[in-house]
Amino acid sequence: MWSQVYLPYIKFDTFSLYPVMLRPESIGYIELRSTNPYDPPIIDPKYLTHPKDIASMVDAMKICIAVGLTPPYRKMKSRLLETVFPGCEHYLMWSDEYLACVARTFTSTLYHPVGTAKMGAPWDPTAVVDPELRVLGGVKGLRVADGSVMPKVVSGNTNAPIIMIGERVSDMIKGINLPRYDPATAKRMADYWNDIDRKFFDPNNDPTNFD
Ligand SMILES: Cc1cc2nc3c(=O)[nH]c(=O)nc-3n(C[C@H](O)[C@H](O)[C@H](O)COP(=O)(O)OP(=O)(O)OC[C@H]3O[C@@H](n4cnc5c(N)ncnc54)[C@H](O)[C@@H]3O)c2cc1C
Repeated sequence: MWSQVYLPYIKFDTFSLYPVMLRPESIGYIELRSTNPYDPPIIDPKYLTHPKDIASMVDAMKICIAVGLTPPYRKMKSRLLETVFPGCEHYLMWSDEYLACVARTFTSTLYHPVGTAKMGAPWDPTAVVDPELRVLGGVKGLRVADGSVMPKVVSGNTNAPIIMIGERVSDMIKGINLPRYDPATAKRMADYWNDIDRKFFDPNNDPTNFD
């Protein structure tokens, strides 16, 4: 991959736009290999097995290509790589089929797998834990508090929400309830963040000036 696609450009400035599949339809699985607890489980993420995911990746790659060829990029003499991704040589370059092939051969994980012990209603046959993270199915005295309980992967990074899951369940165990929703406090918080956004993202503002 490196020598065929990227090596010819080693002396050039290059940039890449990487689309990220935030709402995958493909669902993998984790399965015990045996009754021996020291045997590693079988983990099959089944990436890109749902046709919609490939179609979304192709659409996203087309958007990336279009962005890379907009006038501001063109001003910097941007152009597409002319080298072909290995394994995709028999497709017409930049056709949907070619992009789908690139998606299949050049895709990596963002290390955010979740959902192997999904939280859900007690009557949901696919749920492993209830909304207080207690294991369903007659198991007593056991909770799961980690990334596995997320029913769907979150759009952002997983680490902070998982810490929040741990904090929340520790409050539940200790019997602490969150304060009731208060519209005035919510508005105060929204104003606070909007103010920060305005200061950081308004090009007329000096982001270091917080007066
Ligand atoms: C390379 C990489 C980069 C990442 N970068 C980011 C990032 O930049 N930002 C971000 O938000 N997220 C990032 N993530 C994702 C994030 O780190 C994970 O989603 C998160 O740590 C998962 O938390 P967890 O508690 O569910 O699992 P883990 O953090 O994996 O914790 C599981 C724990 O269970 C223990 N364990 C496993 N099996 C057993 C057993 N049988 N008995 C007892 N203990 C056991 C393990 O030793 C481990 O301590 C990254 C992940 C990886 C792998």
